[in-house]
Amino acid sequence: MADEGDWYYESAGSPVGPISADEFAVKRSTAVITPDTKVWKPGMDDWAPLRSVPSAPGGEMAISALHAPPDTTTQCDECSRPTPKDELLAYGNLQICTACKETFVDKLKQGVRVGGGPWRDRKAILFYADTDLPKRCLKCNEPAEHSITRNLSHTNHLLLLLVLIGGLPGILIYVLIAFFIRQRAMVTAYLCTKHRKSRTLFLTINWTVTIVLTLTLILLSVMTFANNDFLIVVISLSVLGLLICAIAGLRLQLFRVQKIKDGPVRASGPSRKFLDSLQPWRDS
Ligand SMILES: [Zn+2]
Ligand SMILES: [Zn+2]
Repeated sequence: MADEGDWYYESAGSPVGPISADEFAVKRSTAVITPDTKVWKPGMDDWAPLRSVPSAPGGEMAISALHAPPDTTTQCDECSRPTPKDELLAYGNLQICTACKETFVDKLKQGVRVGGGPWRDRKAILFYADTDLPKRCLKCNEPAEHSITRNLSHTNHLLLLLVLIGGLPGILIYVLIAFFIRQRAMVTAYLCTKHRKSRTLFLTINWTVTIVLTLTLILLSVMTFANNDFLIVVISLSVLGLLICAIAGLRLQLFRVQKIKDGPVRASGPSRKFLDSLQPWRDS
C-alpha cells in the first residue's frame, strides 16, 4: 500500500502528521494514540476515533481489545497463574489449570491443602505456612517416607554479630530479640532412608565437635595460667572450630529461610532435582 505514510492524529486538539504506518504503530503501542484518539488519512470522509477505523495500523488491535470480554482469565487455585477460563478444569468449587492437574490429584490423594504451594523460583522453594510437601526426598527427589516437621523461623542474621561482639551478654540480648521479632511457619518435608541417615550422621558429628570444643574452652578459661602461649593457640583453634561448626550447622538445615512474612515462605535448601519437580512460582 503506497499511501500508508499519510496518517494524522489529533493531539490536544491539533492535528499531528503526516506520520508513517510504522510511526503510527509505535505511537499506538506507547499509548500516545489510544482507541479514542481521532485519526484521519486522505480518502477518509472525516476524522474518526481510532476504534472505528479498522484499516488504521493497530486499529484492529484496538477494536479487538474493545470488544473482547472484560476478563477471560481466572487464577488457577493451585498455582495462582492467570489461565484462560476454557483451559481450567473445575473440581467442586476449585479451578485447576492443566499444568497443575497431576499435582492437584496427588494432593487430593494425600489430603494436602490445595493452593499452598510448593512452587520453585530459581534456587528457592516457596510455600505457605503449614504445608505438607510432596512425599519425595528433598535431596534426591525419590519417593520418601521419613517425615520431618520443621517450625521455621527467620531472624536477621546480622543480629548474630551481637553474639560475636557482645560475648555472653550479646548472646542473651540476641536470644531475647530473636524470640520477639521472629516469625514462624510450620512445614513437613520428607527424606529418603539414605539421606536421613547421612543427615543424622553429620548432625551428630557437628554437635559432638561443638560440645567438645565448648567444654575445652570452658575448661581452659577457668585455668589460671592462661597466658601460656600454647593455651592461647588452643583457645584460638577452638574458637575457629566452633565458627566452622556453626557454619556447617547452617548448611545442614533443611531450609534456610529467606523470607517468611508477606505471602509464601521463601527458602533455599532443597536440591535442584526436587525443585525441578515443582510448579514454577507465578512471578517467575
Ligand atoms: Zn495451575
Ligand atoms: Zn534421598
